[in-house]
Amino acid sequence: MEKTKLCVIGDPIEHSLSPVIHNTILEMLGLPYEYGRMQVRAEDTETFLRQAVTEGYGGFNATMPHKTNLVKLADELDYDAQLCQSVNTVVIRGGKICGCNTDGKGFLRMLQDHGFSPEKKTITVLGAGGAARAIVLKLAQAGAARIFVCNRTLAKAETLAREAPAQISACAFDGQTLSDCAMFSDLLVNTTPLGMEKINAQFTELGFLNLLGKHAPVCDVVYQPVETAFLRYAREYGHQTINGLGMLVHQAIFALEEFTETKIDPAAVVPEIMSALKKAMQE
Ligand code: NAP
Repeated sequence: MEKTKLCVIGDPIEHSLSPVIHNTILEMLGLPYEYGRMQVRAEDTETFLRQAVTEGYGGFNATMPHKTNLVKLADELDYDAQLCQSVNTVVIRGGKICGCNTDGKGFLRMLQDHGFSPEKKTITVLGAGGAARAIVLKLAQAGAARIFVCNRTLAKAETLAREAPAQISACAFDGQTLSDCAMFSDLLVNTTPLGMEKINAQFTELGFLNLLGKHAPVCDVVYQPVETAFLRYAREYGHQTINGLGMLVHQAIFALEEFTETKIDPAAVVPEIMSALKKAMQE
């Protein structure tokens, strides 16, 4: 049987782990799809989209730098894509293009896997870019009492805070402010690329983590390396730590459910995905 094409687009894209995750699930469930990766430059988002429709793609995932461009190009947006003004999953059905966002849902399910409920909690989020927007707005929707968004460019945190001013506060990214926010938090999340492989920048100081209560988990959405310097420091200081692999895997499962219109039980596929990822990351 001919397989329907799916892929991930981005620039750069050669190190994307999405094909490993999607193809592991497709194989396990015997679904007639194949998933590849495509290098697509920012200025070529629309060209690729038209080509995908013509070539009969079932859809594709999008990473940097396409997530915002796709908002304007989709025929319709799902609730989360509308909320975040960002598309990481494009479903093509009957020639119609639906833009979805599964990042925030993936993040919430990862927290759930670690036994953390955001309801009535105080949470500090570092960064106010695309990943932060998806995470912060879903945390607010899930009933977080207060979310401190600490960002280098304060204006970007202020824009995000305006989406739910009763819950979200914009804060600066200096040591004193980070310490003040950490002191009151039940969860601390890094959404900046600091510590990421191939990005030549690290946190200059992590002393603010000492102010965080010992009950509070520390999460980094970065997953390469699996343990960033930020997470290592938090672990050595006694915190439960959560890396970005769980979010990556769950956003992919949600996306594949959209592409294939199939309900996927995460418990049935996650162990195999994790071992496939471990192997791929060692290569
Ligand atoms: P983005 O939209 O470019 O946002 C980056 C954010 O980090 C901005 O708030 C930026 O601050 C801040 N930042 C960048 N460099 C900084 C520095 N040197 N010091 C302080 N702050 C800095 O990127 P994104 O799409 O949100 O992605 C961010 C990270 O999340 C990436 O590492 C990406 O791989 C990861 N991610 C993981 C998943 C997952 O599934 N695990 C999903 C999505 C993204 P300014 O506003 O001041 O520029």
